[in-house]
Amino acid sequence: MESEPLFPALAEPGPAPALQFDDRVVTYAELAAAAGALASRLTAAGATRVAVWSTPTLETAVGVVAALVAGVPAVPLNPKSGEGELGHIVADSEPSLVLAGAGERLPDALEDLERWDAGVDTTGGVSPAAALPTRALDPSSPALIVYTSGTTGPPKGVVLPRRAIAATLDALADAWQWTEDDVLVHGLPLFHVHGLILGVLGPLRRGGAVRHLGRFSTRGVARELATGGTMLFGVPTMYHRIAEALPDEPELVKALAGARLLVSGSAALPVHDHERIASATGRRVVERYGMTETLMNTSVRADGEPRAGTVGVPLPGVELRLVDEAEGEIAPDAGPEAVGEIQVRGPNLFTSYLNRPDATEAAFADGGWFRTGDMAVRDADGYVRIVGRKATDLIKSGGYKIGAGEIENALLEHPAVREAAVTGEPDPDLGERVVAWIAPADPALPPTLDDLATHVATRLSPHKRPRALHLVDALPRNDMGKVLKRALGGG
Ligand code: ATP
Ligand code: MG
Repeated sequence: MESEPLFPALAEPGPAPALQFDDRVVTYAELAAAAGALASRLTAAGATRVAVWSTPTLETAVGVVAALVAGVPAVPLNPKSGEGELGHIVADSEPSLVLAGAGERLPDALEDLERWDAGVDTTGGVSPAAALPTRALDPSSPALIVYTSGTTGPPKGVVLPRRAIAATLDALADAWQWTEDDVLVHGLPLFHVHGLILGVLGPLRRGGAVRHLGRFSTRGVARELATGGTMLFGVPTMYHRIAEALPDEPELVKALAGARLLVSGSAALPVHDHERIASATGRRVVERYGMTETLMNTSVRADGEPRAGTVGVPLPGVELRLVDEAEGEIAPDAGPEAVGEIQVRGPNLFTSYLNRPDATEAAFADGGWFRTGDMAVRDADGYVRIVGRKATDLIKSGGYKIGAGEIENALLEHPAVREAAVTGEPDPDLGERVVAWIAPADPALPPTLDDLATHVATRLSPHKRPRALHLVDALPRNDMGKVLKRALGGG
């Protein structure tokens, strides 16, 4: 039995604001009524698994909360997915119905699914306390099935138990001193861990509020932080846009300077953007590191010292180790040159990949350690620095193992570079050679390979310089802004 509900603030809901999307505000009492009524209907209908059409709307938030209250596993669907991917996800996850906002047009791939409206009735007709069904829910039972971002291959369905959600949100509350007084400014999509679990369920678990921007804009961020917002969650592409806008938007500088906490995650925050934001606003962005499978693993703490290029320390309850190629544990004090794969253990972990017992088994090492596939080093005081993904970001060249990340960071400091990605390419002499993919700041004045090689060789070691250059208009990215290296031929 669940020792405590996921959302204590919904059990005795009051008039405090819970969710705001555009100019629609829903209080805890209204949310309890809406989600409670829908949860009762789901329970009465015997729903076993529901898909949620996850546009960035109030309806999505209400649908997911209702499913969690009812104890019916929910599968958030990315509305930007193509028919093929949606068809795959529906066939894989077999939902008994789909929850969607009344006005939403659903694609053909969902036409065989029974459709229910996830509406919000703010007329106050339902008694909130009576509407919330009280069921004993097992903490190990599945709460959400979230598909991975598909950065390295087709998205995998990750079965997340209720325990993992509670554990990760409580660990973040500890690390970030996150309370009911916090108002989160949110501009992320709602079908991944970052936007949905951290960005919506996080504030609701604390009893605080979310203000969703609908669509991210630097002006929206400035407005919401200036009028009561205390925290901002973003992906690196958003902080990049913020860094670019700061010189021209004094109100943005002021708003960020006054925020309690700025958090970045989902991909590495370029050091150049971190430093530009710090020098303009006096605020350092806090980086955290997580995955769909593990929820959050590490973070810089609110009372700690944010450092550009690091993702902080393991969160409370999370065990983290680095292992070498033979899966031998690297000593915590081995120093900043000892690169290893991050493996984690803790109550934050997923249960399994849906319908993929082989992939699930392969993902765990002896002792229940989850293999993240991410490579990292540790600073003397335990701060974790991610070097990149084992599969795409580790280049074996001339006897060296070179991480793509630090070269990308160096390239991004070159004034002629707007976007940079580094991959390895087979090379007869070196084994692999370092290749730079560059979107120039000014397409009329692209940097040359010589410029970039000199720039990198003077900042890092000479063997890390790029040996080939591909100029592109923009890097291929998914909807979380992650660079798709497989689309660059980078594995
Ligand atoms: P797929 O597993 O389908 O290839 P994905 O790994 O991108 O896609 P997610 O689970 O959404 O899917 O992303 C987790 C990954 O994102 C991590 O394994 C890590 O590589 C990266 N990541 C997350 N946060 C950070 C961070 N702060 N710095 C660097 N990388 C990060
Ligand atoms: Mg992954």
